[in-house]
Amino acid sequence: MSRIAYVNGAYVPLRSASVSIMDRGFQFADSIYEVWAIRGGRMFDTEAHMTRLQRSLAELRITPPMSEASLMAVMRETMRRNRVSDGIVYVQVSRGAASRDHVFPAPGTAPTIVVTAKNLDRAAIAKRAAAGIKVISAPETRWRRRDIKSVNLLPNVLARQGAKEKGAFEAWFVDEHGLVTEGTSSNAWIVDSNGVLRTRELSFDILHGVTRGAVLKIAQERQMKVEERPFTIEEAKTAREAFITAASNAATAAIEIDGVRIGDGKPGSVTEALRAAYLGA
Ligand code: PLP
Repeated sequence: MSRIAYVNGAYVPLRSASVSIMDRGFQFADSIYEVWAIRGGRMFDTEAHMTRLQRSLAELRITPPMSEASLMAVMRETMRRNRVSDGIVYVQVSRGAASRDHVFPAPGTAPTIVVTAKNLDRAAIAKRAAAGIKVISAPETRWRRRDIKSVNLLPNVLARQGAKEKGAFEAWFVDEHGLVTEGTSSNAWIVDSNGVLRTRELSFDILHGVTRGAVLKIAQERQMKVEERPFTIEEAKTAREAFITAASNAATAAIEIDGVRIGDGKPGSVTEALRAAYLGA
């Protein structure tokens, strides 16, 4: 089945879908994106991802290309046309195409919008979660507004490739104080040596992960000991459990960090319980 993308008002075959070479997303990474997970035909955390998309646009002063209701209709139609039941829907909005100039283009320049949707290998994702993932640490080299979900992802790409080349799935960025910020495409968590669930507090330093928020809420509802406080890589290595959260991976255990085994090297009970609760299992 050939895939279909929505580009600036039209549904087109993915293989011939295109945007201008003058697009500011291509020229300057002047563009934001959002990703929703779909499992069993159900879209997860629909509102929270939409809210973050609007916030990213507002922070960069990019004009929303359409109303939320229209965007939701386009997303659902893109999912339908691609027969997506277990996968993701992706939205990217750039400041549009204009003669190359660092300053914003003339008011009225139409933003570029692209929507795609694809199925993911559900069995592979479940297998990864059952086994747990390996993580490496990487120096934090990103810009200081990581709360904006911009396509300015080069440090993330390089760190993730570094992880892959070392046989790991994710890299955790470590800031100038030795504290973990987050993963290249996930938030970072531990159950520390005292049994306290910890993840870094919200600030400009990290993306305000929607899955992070949902998992935090579950933990608080279950009266778990939770602290929104950063941790060092050393604390992570000696933690009882470590895990990541992201739309497409829910909560997935990290069983090794920089070659050091976490706990007994298997996904821990807290991670498993939070994952099951989040997935509604
Ligand atoms: N942190 C970064 C840098 C990300 O790119 C992502 C998701 O792609 C996340 C965290 C997790 O966010 P969410 O749970 O909203 O998918």
